[in-house]
Amino acid sequence: MTDAIATVRLRPKVDARRLRRGFPWVYANQLVTDRRTRSLKAGTIARLEDAERYPIGVVAVNPNSKIIARFLDHDPDIRVDQEWFGHRLRRALHGREAIYKTPYYRLVHAEADGLPGVVIDRFGSAAVIQPNAAWADELLEPLVEALAAQTGVTAIVKNAQGRARTLEGLDNVSSVLLGYLDGPVAVPMNGATYIADLLGGQKTGLYYDQRPNHAFVANLARGTTVLDVFSHVGGFALAALAGGADRALSVDSSVAALKLAVAGAKASKVDDRFETRAVDAFDALETLHEEGRKFGTVVCDPPAFAPNAKALDAGLRAYEKVARLSARLVDEGGTLTLCSCSHAADLERFRSSCVRGIGRAGRRSQIIRTGFAGPDHPQHPDLAESGYLKAMTFRFIG
Ligand code: SAH
Repeated sequence: MTDAIATVRLRPKVDARRLRRGFPWVYANQLVTDRRTRSLKAGTIARLEDAERYPIGVVAVNPNSKIIARFLDHDPDIRVDQEWFGHRLRRALHGREAIYKTPYYRLVHAEADGLPGVVIDRFGSAAVIQPNAAWADELLEPLVEALAAQTGVTAIVKNAQGRARTLEGLDNVSSVLLGYLDGPVAVPMNGATYIADLLGGQKTGLYYDQRPNHAFVANLARGTTVLDVFSHVGGFALAALAGGADRALSVDSSVAALKLAVAGAKASKVDDRFETRAVDAFDALETLHEEGRKFGTVVCDPPAFAPNAKALDAGLRAYEKVARLSARLVDEGGTLTLCSCSHAADLERFRSSCVRGIGRAGRRSQIIRTGFAGPDHPQHPDLAESGYLKAMTFRFIG
């Protein structure tokens, strides 16, 4: 596969030092894009040279992408085969095993784990791969073999729903790559049992990234009534109920997600204290206000309202609206946790929107915690973008 390896070269005056120090991407304007490079198939493995023809490493090339090359290895002679994948996966596995006692976590978080564009979530003896870059789609077979060999998982699903795949020019066809699944799987996390649908669910079936924020809210929620808006399969609500919350109400527009939440509540033996409403979140926030309802613990964890820079202003307005509508429902002394998984809305902008929304609801608050994604979602030190998830908890003092 890498025997007759292609070569791509940096343009003169492009500083190669940053790449040699570990920056993982080469942008299209940094590479000599002659006819030969432009005609490379998306996902081609190539050796990267600097303008003086000194090798820098091995990259995956996609001539159709703004990120024209992604770093795979600093050894220019490496072969990207099952053994190579095995090394990367073992390193990722050791990192997770040092943190988690049970095999339920994000095993591979793309660039930070040395597998650019690749996301792998582990659910005990099953795994879901999102090959969100062309090279990984091309080399799926050795990746799947290595994943089975290193982890012992017996079922592997490919989830092709990611937005990033469209940008890479890839299809959106999901499939089972290894073994079979006879239904949703049970996932123990923070004392609750979640039910995740690895085949039909969103993303990879469960939002592991919120684990530390679920735990923090669960602890705060003891003895309170919880409102979990944009709940998906009950992320915050089930952790809170397992942790001793009195009652919880989950709101989501997805009937399928709420069915899984109810199944999770049963599996967690908390279903007698759990309710759901399958409605639009904005409508639910208005209705609950009209009903005069108040909650000791409120969480809003919407989808990415600002998925890219173009959507930023509209996204920030939506975050402000969520903050304003939900702030009205919080008991005095209660807490409101507002989350954003938008890359484009950085912490400062997101915080401003939340603070403005809470203020416009006429409420006074203090910020008691700012949370991020859990340690199974490591960040590449050079990519600020990978710090996408924010979860801010406000305590209401008026
Ligand atoms: N809080 C969850 C993850 C939420 S993901 C956890 O911790 O695991 C975002 C959820 O918002 C999805 O389940 C999606 O179905 C839901 N959603 C998106 N738009 C919505 C809307 N307008 N009203 C209600 N739910 C919505």
